[in-house]
Amino acid sequence: MKIIIMGAPGAGKGTHARDISEKYDIPHISTGDILREEVHKGTELGKTAKTYMDSGRLLPDDIIIEIINKRIREDDCKKGYLFDGFPRTIAQAEMLDKVTDLEAVIYLRCSDDIIIKRLTGRRMTTDGKIYNIYFDPPPEDVEVYQRDDDNEETIKERLKVFYDTFGPLMDFYKKKGVFSELKGDDRREIVIKIIFQMLDAIAGA
Ligand code: AMP
Repeated sequence: MKIIIMGAPGAGKGTHARDISEKYDIPHISTGDILREEVHKGTELGKTAKTYMDSGRLLPDDIIIEIINKRIREDDCKKGYLFDGFPRTIAQAEMLDKVTDLEAVIYLRCSDDIIIKRLTGRRMTTDGKIYNIYFDPPPEDVEVYQRDDDNEETIKERLKVFYDTFGPLMDFYKKKGVFSELKGDDRREIVIKIIFQMLDAIAGA
């Protein structure tokens, strides 16, 4: 199964992607996670990525395209994959279109006030589990950190970048007949149930 999960920062992509990846046994490929890992390791790519990520801007397409081209050639991608945070531009979508046939593009539509609360309250563990100090606080004995770009100024820029680039991507995937929109404001259990129903129908088709 080859799927994209799309949505503004904080729409719940990462959370749902983990559940989808587990149920359908496909790798969850998050360009943001790959870049954060490079930043953490202090590589040249990580150093470049950090300057963009800290200000909420997108990295140049050629860097992202190279990362994805390499990643989808790995063995675990033979069964398919789930992209989260990619593609973010038409150039990236066109590159992907040349190398794969997508079965579904799921867009999680969310209201801005929920997004701001989710992002400012978001806390993560080093192995990628996501909590929220308002809705789903981490247990006291669990060590969590806050992403550098989850601060109000960067969040505003990230949302602006998302809404500036999302329209053309939506049109691109609507034309291909693979685009579906879901209400991402709802509780996690409700959203994931709808996603599973949709993907089960695709998997069984
Ligand atoms: P995310 O974790 O998806 O919110 O991504 C965090 C940051 O990584 C973004 O604000 C961008 O700076 C960068 N980034 C992640 N994915 C992409 C992409 N597909 N194209 C360009 N920049 C990206």
